[in-house]
Amino acid sequence: MFGKKARLIVRTHFFSDDEYECSACGYRARKPFKVCPRCGARMNGSREDPTWIDEMEYADEIFGDWS
Ligand SMILES: [Zn+2]
Repeated sequence: MFGKKARLIVRTHFFSDDEYECSACGYRARKPFKVCPRCGARMNGSREDPTWIDEMEYADEIFGDWS
């Protein structure tokens, strides 16, 4: 339900793209998200600043094609 809070866990992988994991349900995505698409938890923590999200998406455009 809305109002649930969780933390966005960043799983860094040296040889592949980072993953972002919902601490509430374990949902993983290749990009950071502010609200979990599976359980609806709002990501709460020191990195909830939207600017950080934008920066990460920008970085993903630069480095996303490495493979
Ligand atoms: Zn979730």
